[in-house]
Amino acid sequence: MRRIVVAALALSGAVALHAQPSPVPTPASILGWEPGTDRKLPTWAQVTAYFAALDAASPHVQVRTLGRTTLGRPFIVAFISDSANLANLEHYRLIQNQLLDPRKRSAGDRERLLSEGRNVVLITSSIHSTEVGGFLSPLVIADRLVRGDTPEARDILKQTIVMLVPSQNPDGVDIVGDWYRSTVGTPAEGSQPPVLYHHYTGHDNNRDWYAFTQVEQRMVVDSLYAPWTPAIVNDIHQQGANGGRIFIPPYMDPVEPNIDPILTASTNALGMAMGWRMMADGKTGVATNASYDQWSPARQYSLNHHGVRILTETASARLATPIDVPPELLGTARGYDARVTSWNFPARWPGGRWTIGDIVSYQASASWAMLSQVARDRRQWLESYMAIGDRALAADHPWTTTDVPSAFVIPRAQRDTQALQRLIWTLQHGQVEVHESVPAGSYVVPTAQPFGSYAKALLERQQYPNLSEYPGGPPKRPYDVTAHTLPLLFGVTVETTRGALPPMTTPLPQVPEPKFTVAGLSGKSPKRIGIYRSYGASMDEGWTRWLFDVNRIPYKTVLDAELRSGKLRSHFDVIIFPEQNPVQIRRGLGAPYPDSLRGGIGDAGAASLKAFVQDGGTMITFNDASEYAISVLDLPVKNVLASVRSNDFYAPGSLMAITLDATHPIAKRMTAPVPAAWFEDSPAFEITDTTRAVAVAAYPSAGDPLLSGWLLGGAKLNGRAALVDVSVGRGHAILFGFRPQYRGQSMNTQPLIWGAILR
Ligand SMILES: [Zn+2]
Repeated sequence: MRRIVVAALALSGAVALHAQPSPVPTPASILGWEPGTDRKLPTWAQVTAYFAALDAASPHVQVRTLGRTTLGRPFIVAFISDSANLANLEHYRLIQNQLLDPRKRSAGDRERLLSEGRNVVLITSSIHSTEVGGFLSPLVIADRLVRGDTPEARDILKQTIVMLVPSQNPDGVDIVGDWYRSTVGTPAEGSQPPVLYHHYTGHDNNRDWYAFTQVEQRMVVDSLYAPWTPAIVNDIHQQGANGGRIFIPPYMDPVEPNIDPILTASTNALGMAMGWRMMADGKTGVATNASYDQWSPARQYSLNHHGVRILTETASARLATPIDVPPELLGTARGYDARVTSWNFPARWPGGRWTIGDIVSYQASASWAMLSQVARDRRQWLESYMAIGDRALAADHPWTTTDVPSAFVIPRAQRDTQALQRLIWTLQHGQVEVHESVPAGSYVVPTAQPFGSYAKALLERQQYPNLSEYPGGPPKRPYDVTAHTLPLLFGVTVETTRGALPPMTTPLPQVPEPKFTVAGLSGKSPKRIGIYRSYGASMDEGWTRWLFDVNRIPYKTVLDAELRSGKLRSHFDVIIFPEQNPVQIRRGLGAPYPDSLRGGIGDAGAASLKAFVQDGGTMITFNDASEYAISVLDLPVKNVLASVRSNDFYAPGSLMAITLDATHPIAKRMTAPVPAAWFEDSPAFEITDTTRAVAVAAYPSAGDPLLSGWLLGGAKLNGRAALVDVSVGRGHAILFGFRPQYRGQSMNTQPLIWGAILR
């Protein structure tokens, strides 16, 4: 917004000055250096200062603060558009809503909406904070737009309402920036920080787009997606250094079967057009149809909400420190070879120096290509968006390969009412309409509704396709995990209905978010709990802390030095090891980190843990960390999958059936109608001494254990233990062969954690 310079007038009140707009500030005028300068990263205060100055100086910008981040920083969005559009934002938002939802328009509205509507584009950056070009590119994009000094820029401003989120993790801008500034000129320059760059989730902050456990995702969904439902979303990321210089969609297979193919086709078309433009502008190393797939809704909210998702992944340097990439280091990536010209990698990059300036240039160039392209075809984009809205309300979704019920029915009578309410809250938070049956007794989620396909994706069981690298070859690794079935994860019974919908109310207002509580632990724990934290930051440690914090369960973080110093038993009853590679736990960080961060638990820590358990303590381990406990405590338990090849067994993130020993104290709190373990490159246990160890949970003795996702070689799990309780001296080791609190979502198995603590 333009502000008028009236400071002198305000002081005296007597002298009339001619009103003058302030000049539009450049990013360099705020930062003190050009974005893309080697070894320079901005603080979050500098980024927000730039956007505040832009808001003050330009009629093309309105900056809003959406709330506060996990660690209390302001979370901002800049609306950028023609001043006439900005003056009528609510008018354009209502048009967008009418285009989205055929129930809000009549046939006679069509032409007016298509001619008056604007392209609503959301650009989000630097959710991953070590992808530091993303701290700067939004400033370059904003500057280029706001100056409006070319016909192209003016056309973009006229046709488009841009919502620019300069960082989806402002805390991380400072966590990574502070670490970087403290290490420039030392051997650790350019290294990853020794803590998670999002307080709870680290890199997994981009795996939370249907569970909404974190405040940052909630702000974007509540304040931008829900009111505006953008038709085009550009998410700015970075990838490794030795492949292409940038990835742009099309994505690789597989495609989540509930996504409307109009969105897949328009994502493909826009991505290819962007690559075309970038190459015409002289950029090389542009890869498409590579590396990233179109499966999990956990990281692609827009593709499940009527918006294309243009992920860009630019090659990284060492944070803001330049690197040299000799041509011989360029190699194969998934879907192309960076040394070979091919249809989806038409212009090779020759290798050489690669800098933060290159990263910013590629990121800004890609976003500009996207904005320019959609402005050119505004009407076609709006027609396409309208068609997706019409098709969502149709009675079936003929494109999907999975069965389409008319509704999902969720009975109110459930054993875990907290999980039921969280399921309803989670669906509604993702813009799903939830009704109540008449007479009352069930929630009803029709599939014919604006976001019915999204609801279906989350409520059904996934059948991930059997993809291999080549015929007879190893399984083709998915980009992320393969299952997202909320009824299994949450432990809630959900039924389906076909044909006519049951009698039901109008959509319910948003149910209040249920409080997380754990009987016997929330507020006051009878056990002194420690959670191990490695300097080789583990996301699962962050998720574990999150789970304890939201449930208000007291705990203390245990670092390497405390573990090594011994006398653990006098401070703790229970020590939890979140999922982490056993070698990392043992050895920790090495060079180039400073001595104070190096070394891991080491032999001294191992001895002290052994004494802790012998002396009556409980050691609880999740997933991979269980192998650490097996070796350090010399347990009578073996991981039968330890040396199995992926051709023979593969499960990269799936839900497996488990059976429980319901009489065991650890299992007594379980209520899930279908107990489901989150299995992700997990161990499976054989007990070699049944006098010392007992299986609390096991995989079915026969049949396919897979409930949702992808599993090859499932027979290897039959009869194996999934959760083992081992007596060690006067204490216990409790080994989870899965992730019982996976990304804050697997509520169905969380009671096993509480059972293990209170054992
Ligand atoms: Zn990323």
